Amino acid sequence: MSSFSSTVAIHGGRSCDPCHGSLVTPIVQSTTYVQDEVGVNKGHAYSRVSNPTVTELETRLGALEDASPAVCFGTGLAAETALFLATLRAGDHVVCGDAIYGGTVRLVQQLLSELGISGTFVDTSDPENVRRTITPRTKLVFIETPANPTLKLADIRAIAAVTKMAGVLLAVDNTFLTPVIQRPLDLGADITVYSTTKHIEGHSTAIGGSVVSRDERLIERVRFIRKCTGSIQAAFQAFLTGRGLSTLPLRIERHSQNAQALAERLARNPLVSAVNYPGLKSHPQHALARLQHGKIGGEIVHGGVLSFEVVGGAEAGVRVLNSVKLCSLVEHLGSVETLLTHPVSMTHADVPRDQRLAVGITDGLIRVSVGIEDVADIIEDLERAIALAHEPSDAIDDAVSSEEGAACLAGN
Ligand SMILES: *Cc1c(COP(=O)(O)O)cnc(C)c1O
Repeated sequence: MSSFSSTVAIHGGRSCDPCHGSLVTPIVQSTTYVQDEVGVNKGHAYSRVSNPTVTELETRLGALEDASPAVCFGTGLAAETALFLATLRAGDHVVCGDAIYGGTVRLVQQLLSELGISGTFVDTSDPENVRRTITPRTKLVFIETPANPTLKLADIRAIAAVTKMAGVLLAVDNTFLTPVIQRPLDLGADITVYSTTKHIEGHSTAIGGSVVSRDERLIERVRFIRKCTGSIQAAFQAFLTGRGLSTLPLRIERHSQNAQALAERLARNPLVSAVNYPGLKSHPQHALARLQHGKIGGEIVHGGVLSFEVVGGAEAGVRVLNSVKLCSLVEHLGSVETLLTHPVSMTHADVPRDQRLAVGITDGLIRVSVGIEDVADIIEDLERAIALAHEPSDAIDDAVSSEEGAACLAGN
């Protein structure tokens, strides 16, 4: 695992501002650019095609992975759409992980299918499943590791060996770990894709997505699709994303330390029946996690997302979520605040129960995107809520109403 440079996160791919010498590239809030003479401009013509603030974010994101400049989009799903349109056409087939982001599943099953592109979903924790599913029509394998919200891993190096042999492209949705912890392009993947909305921007203030690759022709094709479909990121969102990027390594370090401490603590709680986190020795792929995830400050780290199961199923899960105070209940992850999701009632509500259970999304499962608060406060909030969820229900009502003021302040 090659290591990650905080210096590159701050200085890599930065351009200077030739007009004013500002240290930070300005938000270029202009739709269009003056031509010096017919057909001659300073590198930009119209902001649907390129914008200086977005371009700088692209060179920075590319530099992080020793790749060509990234292509940035208005959302993570716009980035994935462009990637699919760039690599697949009618009659083609894509192999996807069975626990990828729900929006990606919808895109493949409900939109690409109508364009004549078929998708098969397999358990990518065994590379052999990928090999078996590739057909002569397969053009792309799309995986996500760790998987959401089960934290199951896929062995990128092993799957890249399979796709290379078959002459198929491998794309990795690297949103959860970011290049700070996981570098798929170094492990043989052809493309990484991000919802920069999550850890890269990191403060819940700007939606965005990006596609990164060392294959210039592929990147050109993705850029062309973006121009055709008009899905470029806006300058202000690119500015916020770039500002987040500068502190990404620091935040990922703290997210990971907090998640590790919380996971270890929850694993000892008798009211918690399971904790899924690659940094726990009990994780079935802990050995792979130690090979595939990178080090920060000499320690191998595993990111800020974990999930756990409370004793008592969906009912107890809902009670925990309704009685936290510091943590916020949202459909989101990768921000400075600790964020909780109940997949069964939120992100995976549309997925049939048996299909959910087959991939390990049980009724009482709670996903935690561990923030960068003091970890003792996060542990205290969750352990209190877990204990409360197992008391008779009138005890909860009393406890909650007496603390209503505090809960309002905490935004819940
Ligand atoms: C959120 C997310 C996406 C979609 O990104 P948007 O920016 O919300 O469009 C894709 N993949 C993963 C893993 C995500 O968490």
